Amino acid sequence: MSTPICLVGIGKIAKDQHVPALQASADWTLAATVSRARTVDGVPSYTDFDAMLAERPEIKVISLCLPPVPRFEYARKALAAGRHVMLEKPPGATLAEVQTLERLAEEAGVTLFATWHSRMACGVEDARSWLSKKTVTSAHITWKEDVRRWHPGQDWVFEPGGMGVFDPGINALSILTEILPDPVFIRSAKLMFPANRQTPIAANLTFSDNVTAEFDWRQEGPQTWQIKVTTEEGEIILDDGGSTLTIAGEAIEVGPNREYPALYDRMASLAASQTSDVDLSPMIHVSDAFTLGHRTTVEAFEF
Ligand code: NAP
Repeated sequence: MSTPICLVGIGKIAKDQHVPALQASADWTLAATVSRARTVDGVPSYTDFDAMLAERPEIKVISLCLPPVPRFEYARKALAAGRHVMLEKPPGATLAEVQTLERLAEEAGVTLFATWHSRMACGVEDARSWLSKKTVTSAHITWKEDVRRWHPGQDWVFEPGGMGVFDPGINALSILTEILPDPVFIRSAKLMFPANRQTPIAANLTFSDNVTAEFDWRQEGPQTWQIKVTTEEGEIILDDGGSTLTIAGEAIEVGPNREYPALYDRMASLAASQTSDVDLSPMIHVSDAFTLGHRTTVEAFEF
């Protein structure tokens, strides 16, 4: 049976990933969209979220694809209306607001799923499994991409709550927190803020246990999304955002990449059992980086 779902915020990630994943799935029917100005061909669209909630009681699942700052009010209203809710990453603008949503979901007896799409990359589970019984001696993240390519004209990423380079960096942290056998914590951070912006364009992080990370949004040409973990038993490299895996120099065969279809599979099983999945550990690292971060001003940035 196909479950009707509503997508809210028809922007880049909705069009690139959510709509294709839902339209290709036999388990879901994209039954409505809510957008201030956009539509998806053949799908009933609303400009008013309250009207959609009132007029479409058969839609029990809402997937929120808005940026983090405006997302909370939509999530709160959806939970209050007894709907299951799926949050894009990062799950909110603040940790406390996501904890509030988790409590509201529990009180309403519905599901809240704080998604981390990078955790669904096809090499991640094998990496987690291999590392689970190893002694990690160090790890390094290199996450360097071109903000103009992935967030064209999206000024919200440089506004308070937009997280700057942590918007992609949190994807790396979502993988790191999934695959390391023991948790680590931030010891220091260097944050590079463009002179005309409110969030960093690059960051260097030093964690406990010899774990380091470099995030940079100024990378033109080839893009780098790599996590290297060294253990007493050899080195593991997750590359291409987690979709290729090398263990002790040997390329490991992993399945096809299906991050967003896998998120929707997980949402289906969470909603069926009315359980929530809210892991804030990647966002705690981001928050701690801002708490401990040493600020450096770098060249002004324009799209
Ligand atoms: P986006 O295209 O800039 O915005 C998404 C949509 O959110 C907009 O098109 C708009 O929808 C709605 N929106 C924006 N500001 C709003 C406001 N103040 N009030 C109400 N609605 C508002 O952003 P995006 O790239 O899709 O990113 C959205 C989320 O997905 C972020 O949390 C991001 O981290 C995550 N994500 C992005 C990517 C990527 O490659 N860009 C990849 C993975 C995850 P309408 O125009 O329909 O009203």
